[in-house]
Amino acid sequence: MCIFETLKLICMPSHFIKTLTCLTICTFSVALITAQTNKKPKNIILLVGDGMGLSEISSSLYFNDKPSNFLRFNTVGLSMTSSSKELITDSAAGATAFAVGIKTYNGAIGLDENMNPSETIVEHIAKTGIASGLVVTSSVVHATPASFYAHQESRRMYDEIAVDLVHSKLDFFAGGGLQFFQNRIDGQDLLQQLKDRNYEVHTDVLPQKISEKKQAILLAPNGMPKMSENRGNFLTNATMLAIGHLSKNKEGFFLLVEGSQIDWGGHDNDAEYLINEIIDFDKTIGAVLDFAKNNGETLVIVTADHETGGFSLSADGINYNKIIASFATTGHTATMVPVFAQGPGEHLFGGIYQNTNIYTLMKQLFDQK
Ligand code: MG
Ligand code: ZN
Repeated sequence: MCIFETLKLICMPSHFIKTLTCLTICTFSVALITAQTNKKPKNIILLVGDGMGLSEISSSLYFNDKPSNFLRFNTVGLSMTSSSKELITDSAAGATAFAVGIKTYNGAIGLDENMNPSETIVEHIAKTGIASGLVVTSSVVHATPASFYAHQESRRMYDEIAVDLVHSKLDFFAGGGLQFFQNRIDGQDLLQQLKDRNYEVHTDVLPQKISEKKQAILLAPNGMPKMSENRGNFLTNATMLAIGHLSKNKEGFFLLVEGSQIDWGGHDNDAEYLINEIIDFDKTIGAVLDFAKNNGETLVIVTADHETGGFSLSADGINYNKIIASFATTGHTATMVPVFAQGPGEHLFGGIYQNTNIYTLMKQLFDQK
């Protein structure tokens, strides 16, 4: 029963004294709600389903043998995803909007339209001692994660992005991309450089236990395997490992989690690939929501950078009980994408707004004293 229903029950009797008592309780309760609303999150976990539009999310309801964790959110908004020059964004401009708060050109990593570097949320919060991390199923130098720590003219500059990662403020990162850190054309041994910068480096399996040191976890040459290629529980396990590590920081933390391959299933027009990836992402959302519920100081935001594939769930001819998943394009689309929020500050995320607003709100919440 929600608090308003409880209040309605308490407030039902019409007797004057009871009404007075009721008013007092109501005022007190409204004050409590306001206090809750004004509460600032200590931690923010941003989960990005790359290419995840409403049909992709809906498929996680229809093709999942467990109840979808998307159903656990009370606050939902819509994000307009266009980049500075194009109606249809790519993942670099899309993530730069979340990470830096600016609309930029497709392909830009942490740069504005004039190719000037702009401070990312990770760089900003590091100044006040807030820790950060990222967990992705792509390589860690792919466009979405890169936009949170790198500044490069093109998302394709993986070697340069890897160097930016070594010099970044990240305390934890996990995903693929090992090939960009060793046997490089420029001869730099980035794994050694990470160790020199006090990172513990893991390149075989996701460790069960980690030290207090910063963590660099690179488990595939490039992208992580697909779910259908036995990725297993990597996304959830690495996310929980990151949360365990980062939550030791008394100033709080920011964590980016990306279901990177939802987008790849869309580009391939492969519904099974897409659905397997979204169900994995959904599972991770569930684990994160469980942590946040227990923790009480964590805001969870789930959104997408754009939709991919013009994915649709239509009827099989006149059989309205059978859903056929199909695609309109192998590229991205201009459709708005949902934003789900749960935890202190969640009320700010309702409504319809530009993708850059997600950065603005996260920064505002972190900056709030
Ligand atoms: Mg991505
Ligand atoms: Zn894409």
